[in-house]
Amino acid sequence: MNIGIVGLGLIGGSLGLDLRSLGHYVIGVSRRESTCQKAIAIGSVDEASVDLSIMAGTELIVICTPIANILPTLEQLIPQVSSNTVITDVGSVKAPIVQKASSLWNNFIGGHPMAGTADSGIEAAVKNLFVKNPYVITPIDTTNPTAIALLEEIIKQLKAIPLRCYPKTHDKAVSSISHLPVMVSASLIKTCILEADTDVAQLSKNLASSGFRDTSRVGGGNPELGIMMAKYNRQALLESLQSYQHNLEELINLVEKEDWEQIDEYLQVTKKARPLFIK
Ligand code: NAP
Repeated sequence: MNIGIVGLGLIGGSLGLDLRSLGHYVIGVSRRESTCQKAIAIGSVDEASVDLSIMAGTELIVICTPIANILPTLEQLIPQVSSNTVITDVGSVKAPIVQKASSLWNNFIGGHPMAGTADSGIEAAVKNLFVKNPYVITPIDTTNPTAIALLEEIIKQLKAIPLRCYPKTHDKAVSSISHLPVMVSASLIKTCILEADTDVAQLSKNLASSGFRDTSRVGGGNPELGIMMAKYNRQALLESLQSYQHNLEELINLVEKEDWEQIDEYLQVTKKARPLFIK
């Protein structure tokens, strides 16, 4: 199949590597010419250009740009491609994109591969990024079943796990398991850097080990992604943050009251629940 990828960074570049190794012909578009050349050099695409007209003749196009560029990219693609081209995106937020994109293009279907690393750009592209990871698709009532079938087939070829849900359900779920953790982790790092006692501050840096590494990882990542999450998933994120604040206050209250029994109960519940999320 002729597959187009717009936005040759971590996700787009990685997708290209796998699609080519599956035998697809991959055509890439990125903002910078140097990125197009790098994508060809690492084998992520067969050909690449900064010009979207190269996408004419593709059967499936995956928009892998930053969230802010997804809808403008779709608008620019529309005059370049045939009406049966299926177009999907990989944006980490779905409702605001899917609603508008579906009204612009009959064969649009939203998608979100739940895979990534802390790095960005074409240099960060890796093989098998999507293997065994969930890949959510968010069809709505008007989505063309042919588009759903095509995208699900590609997801299976990538050895990812296809999941279907409504765009809003997706946004609420990723708010609690992905966007909230970024904010919580960032506020944890901020708490540590605001330590007033310089001896304690220095010792903390020397002592920080695996626990801090795990809990600070997502808060120490690419700020651009965090801003996008807050901007495009604002309402769901606010609800998650308020719920988190409530739970934090409950813990503060228990510590103030020295209610060790209740704290034990609290931690027993969370210990039991964690494996439900991390398999
Ligand atoms: P990234 O590594 O920064 O890659 C995005 C690339 O898009 C940039 O390298 C840039 O390439 C290119 N680009 C920017 N504006 C463009 C435009 N107008 N037209 C064409 N290309 C453009 O970011 P990413 O992590 O791959 O994220 C891309 C998308 O995947 C986002 O929508 C994000 O929400 C989603 N996503 C990310 C993750 C994750 O963990 N990172 C996971 C799942 C989904 P140039 O070098 O040419 O400027």
